[in-house]
Amino acid sequence: MAQARTDIGPPLYKEMLPPIIKENYGKWQYHEIVKPGVLVHVSETGAKLYTVRAGSPRLISIYFIREICDLADKYCDGYLRFTSRHNVEFLLSDGSKVDALIAELTEKGVPVGGTGNSITNIVHTQGWVHCHTPATDASGIVKSVMDELFEYFTTMKLPAKLRISLACCLNMCGAVHCSDIAILGIHRTVPKIDHDTLHKVCEIPTLTASCPTAAIRPNPKLKSVEIKAERCMYCGNCYTMCPSVHIIDAKNDAVSIWVGGKISNSRIGPRFSRLAIPFLPNNPPRWPEVVNAVKHIVEVYAANAQPGERMAEWIERISWEKFFEVTGLQFTDKHIDDFTLAQTTFRSTTQFKW
Ligand code: SF4
Ligand code: SF4
Repeated sequence: MAQARTDIGPPLYKEMLPPIIKENYGKWQYHEIVKPGVLVHVSETGAKLYTVRAGSPRLISIYFIREICDLADKYCDGYLRFTSRHNVEFLLSDGSKVDALIAELTEKGVPVGGTGNSITNIVHTQGWVHCHTPATDASGIVKSVMDELFEYFTTMKLPAKLRISLACCLNMCGAVHCSDIAILGIHRTVPKIDHDTLHKVCEIPTLTASCPTAAIRPNPKLKSVEIKAERCMYCGNCYTMCPSVHIIDAKNDAVSIWVGGKISNSRIGPRFSRLAIPFLPNNPPRWPEVVNAVKHIVEVYAANAQPGERMAEWIERISWEKFFEVTGLQFTDKHIDDFTLAQTTFRSTTQFKW
């Protein structure tokens, strides 16, 4: 009898490593940025691996995939990789081919960059294409924003690296909590309950347990549930458990902008992104309000931060009050943590101090 196969996940990554990486595994000593979009990794054996980083809009056609595979065949013995920010990295063991590859990419309209003090591609979530709880789209906004910030991808002229992320709801499978600039879709209304269908399609105990603020309780009379509105923080977690609790609200769903997040390193802990703009309208297909807001913050940061200062460090140096002053952004009650309701509800604090 054939043995049951249990290892049905993706193939072991080592099987797909370029030979130069396999041969120098554990021997890489350092890497440098040769020029925008080009890295060189140097091994203790003297071997050099060149990486050419190119941008992609994430939602890509089969034609684009064929084109980049042809380029990989021509310049890199068939090896390339996608990064988590949807960049395409061509891995070359022959440095003399780098310029020719960049010339071909440029001719095809594929930008090369995203290294060092640049804005690399935006890490983002699923959006309207794939997820069922989004308050806004992901790839559509990202494409619109990056089209405007293009020059910061292909150059390294910012004071420091600037990382932008997008999550289309606050369940946040993106990295908006720790990004220099974060674009976050927000629901702003309490879910509407469809009592007629709820008991047929949803497990009530699972549904009540899904709410992080304990806002949902059973309503035995209706064989349904009820939501205590003042406890709801519009997260949509209940909707992921039960399709009869509708969180999507085309009129009121919107976009917010957060700034000053940064992941931890060996010396400092993580800094969480903080609210800069509480509301921008959902305005597809090009989201001009969101694009202008992000571009404006980038430009003010670029003009005022000192060399090496990330967004968080710049704001900490000049103070949050000054940040709102120099950017001209309005400071509202929405920016205050632990606003008056925080004693009795959970939704007013971004720190969840219960
Ligand atoms: Fe879905 Fe929210 Fe993730 Fe967007 S951020 S893909 S809406 S869970
Ligand atoms: Fe609870 Fe979030 Fe649903 Fe509101 S949206 S009821 S906070 S799970």
